[in-house]
Amino acid sequence: MNELKNLPSVDRLLSEAALQSLVAEHGRTVVTDAVRAELTFARESVKGGAALPANDAIVAAVTGRVAAHMRPRLQPVFNLTGTVLHTNLGRAVLSESVVDAIARAARAPCALEYDLETGGRGDRDDLVEGLLRELTGAEAATVVNNNAAAVFLLLNTLAQRKEVVVSRGELVEIGGAFRVPDIMRRAGAKLVEVGTTNRTHLRDFDEAVDAKTAMVMKVHTSNYAVQGFTAAVPEGELAQLAHARGVPFVVDLGSGTLVNLEQWGLPHEPTPRESIAAGADLVTFSGDKLLGGPQAGLLVGHRELIAKIKKNPLKRALRAGKLTLAALEATLALYRDPDRLPQRLEALRLLTRPETEIRAQAGRLLPHWQAALAGWPLDAAIEPALSQIGSGSLPVDRLPSVALVARPRGRKAGVLHKLEAALRRLPTPVVGHIADGSLRLDLRCLRPEDEAAFAAQLATLT
Ligand SMILES: *Cc1c(COP(=O)(O)O)cnc(C)c1O
Repeated sequence: MNELKNLPSVDRLLSEAALQSLVAEHGRTVVTDAVRAELTFARESVKGGAALPANDAIVAAVTGRVAAHMRPRLQPVFNLTGTVLHTNLGRAVLSESVVDAIARAARAPCALEYDLETGGRGDRDDLVEGLLRELTGAEAATVVNNNAAAVFLLLNTLAQRKEVVVSRGELVEIGGAFRVPDIMRRAGAKLVEVGTTNRTHLRDFDEAVDAKTAMVMKVHTSNYAVQGFTAAVPEGELAQLAHARGVPFVVDLGSGTLVNLEQWGLPHEPTPRESIAAGADLVTFSGDKLLGGPQAGLLVGHRELIAKIKKNPLKRALRAGKLTLAALEATLALYRDPDRLPQRLEALRLLTRPETEIRAQAGRLLPHWQAALAGWPLDAAIEPALSQIGSGSLPVDRLPSVALVARPRGRKAGVLHKLEAALRRLPTPVVGHIADGSLRLDLRCLRPEDEAAFAAQLATLT
């Protein structure tokens, strides 16, 4: 126990050169706390029979504690899951021009709600309303925190204590927390389900719409597909029926891209412009799904309905901030030049990366992958893969891609989880996925400019 007296004091440790430079970087408070914590730990260890640690060892442990404490919790990762718009990994990666716009809005005061012509008060929605009108054909637009908020605000404004008619085939759940029936209830609207899971007809809607009806709603079944003996009513027919009965027709598009993706070989995804043209009075969609921008909920449609929604006090509670609006404006601006969109809109660049380019990248990386796995009971290979768009877009379509694969030699499935954990511990954590008895790193989202850094850190895999 006398040995404890030989542990250095807090001040003695803080005077070490290594800790002095830590103090210079992170401040006295953080380093002193780490020293105290490490000394407490050392004291307990010695009491438990461990040898007295050398000063160098204590300094190294303090350095480790400070590094762990100060590391930002929101860490960049390599998304090699094969899901391009991965909700848990932040959905759309933003283009450099968009990142610049965010930085500009953050650095200096900006005319967020200020009309520079008149010097009077402005409306933050005006920053993007013109672009949204141009790109969707709608009369007016407003922006909130996300699409869930957009749907909630719309229902709360137009359908409180009234009925909303929706097909049973469209009562979707998005990632657990967003469920159409729950949102309806919370917004104060009464859900009226019509039709069946697989088939809903115009007459089902016709019978359900009455004096208590606030709106007819269509929800895009974005994260699943009903196949086989199915029927859904086209938007145009629903719009006609709703209008004949004097109620609005609204569409929750979910993802909603602003251009026809087929021109780049991607599957068709409905656009707000199509819904508006078919007669929808309001359309809502996300900013960070196929649109490729920041998290936001966009509402476009008739001027009077948008004006009503903007007057709801909840709009204030759900509004988007200046960084979001800066990013959204810059993202939408890219759509003005659709020809260069696949080069300039980062999300689309990843979605349209040719398989041949990914294959060539896999070939360059294979030797690094093999070297990294040399000490593991695993075979390294490259195999074809199928990426997903993700975020509930186009659920059944797959994009041909190529993956780095690790397969256990023999029946050692546990080793895959060890490798998965080791990849997560790399300086920029690598997130892949385990499927068919192998660990797979889909290279679609490994941008060519990040390839060298990715390869270099593979050499440190342990
Ligand atoms: C994704 C989605 C939502 C929720 O949008 P968030 O932007 O994640 O809030 C709502 N409805 C549909 C149909 C969706 O696909």
